[in-house]
Amino acid sequence: MPRPLVATIHSSALRHNLRVARQSAPHAKIWGIVKANAYGHGLERGMRAFAEADGLGLIEIDAALRLRELGWNKPVLLLEGFFDESDLPELAARDIQFAIHTDEQIDMLGHASLSSSVHVHLKMNTGMNRLGFAPHAFRAAYERLRTMPIVRGITLMTHFANADDSQNACMPLAEQVKRFKNVTDGLDGERSLANSAAVLNHPEVAADWVRPGIMLYGATPGGQSAAEFGLQPAMTLASQIIGIQRIEPGDPIGYGSRFVAEKTMTVGVVACGYADGYPRHAPAGTPVIVDGKRTRIVGRVSMDMLNVDLTDVPGARVGSKVELWGRNLPIDEVANAAGTIGYELMCAVAPRVAVIEEE
Ligand SMILES: *Cc1c(COP(=O)(O)O)cnc(C)c1O
Repeated sequence: MPRPLVATIHSSALRHNLRVARQSAPHAKIWGIVKANAYGHGLERGMRAFAEADGLGLIEIDAALRLRELGWNKPVLLLEGFFDESDLPELAARDIQFAIHTDEQIDMLGHASLSSSVHVHLKMNTGMNRLGFAPHAFRAAYERLRTMPIVRGITLMTHFANADDSQNACMPLAEQVKRFKNVTDGLDGERSLANSAAVLNHPEVAADWVRPGIMLYGATPGGQSAAEFGLQPAMTLASQIIGIQRIEPGDPIGYGSRFVAEKTMTVGVVACGYADGYPRHAPAGTPVIVDGKRTRIVGRVSMDMLNVDLTDVPGARVGSKVELWGRNLPIDEVANAAGTIGYELMCAVAPRVAVIEEE
């Protein structure tokens, strides 16, 4: 029997969550974001589940080409653009769209001799200060692209820093929208602004295309819980108890003996550790479900195992089912306890974890 740690991907949840995005932004076209192996859910699985999306967006050039090999005929978008002039011929030949965020990329596009035209997404830095042209430089970049015969279309794009946080006074979403509109008013081209947080919390900025990622996988980008947004978990990470220890007051658990029992305890050992993607920094108290009952992890997470408190799960035995996150335990709760976000946990599920798909 293989190791009992399994990530189950719920494809019906992926489809459901796409419909939630559609309902939230009914007039926009949707880029289903499938970067990072569809946030750990599998590129091909994501592609099939998001068959109703209007396009797929991602970061990795090889994965974009793979979507074409797998038969995805609708638009594909590289959110970070291309990295080298040598990338361009294949992107053009496979009709893969890409973001343009530097003058260097425009130079490369100017030098390249391409067999087919390209559709580009010109990105404005409206306050995230990550990728994009400053507002004052945006129109010049737009004009450069517009005069290139190889460029058949330009989508106007920006990205929000705080769409999940209406209290953020430093860079409110409204300020980013204002900067974007001031510069793009009157320019030809579709508009693309919203990530999941904007789709859910600010549907009024949906414009022509939205770019939901995390919500499609059933985790929250912030604002409310995934369940409150009507999203369904798309991944359940489950394992089993593979060993049990009875310990007495004063007995320590695990590496570093960081957890010391205060009373007589039953401790279960779970086949799941940081080499599987479970966060090593998850503290004692991080929630976990054993035999359908909610309990907590104790002691340091090790490479291949972690420990759980079974004192109040009297029926638990070797072979009992353990849910690390998923249908019964929101990934966001686990992430929150471990000081991170659901995004990081789902992306980190390691290749050695078996993956199965079910409706
Ligand atoms: C990853 C990404 C998204 C999706 O973000 P979520 O928060 O997962 O919805 C949208 N746009 C760009 C440019 C991205 O890089």
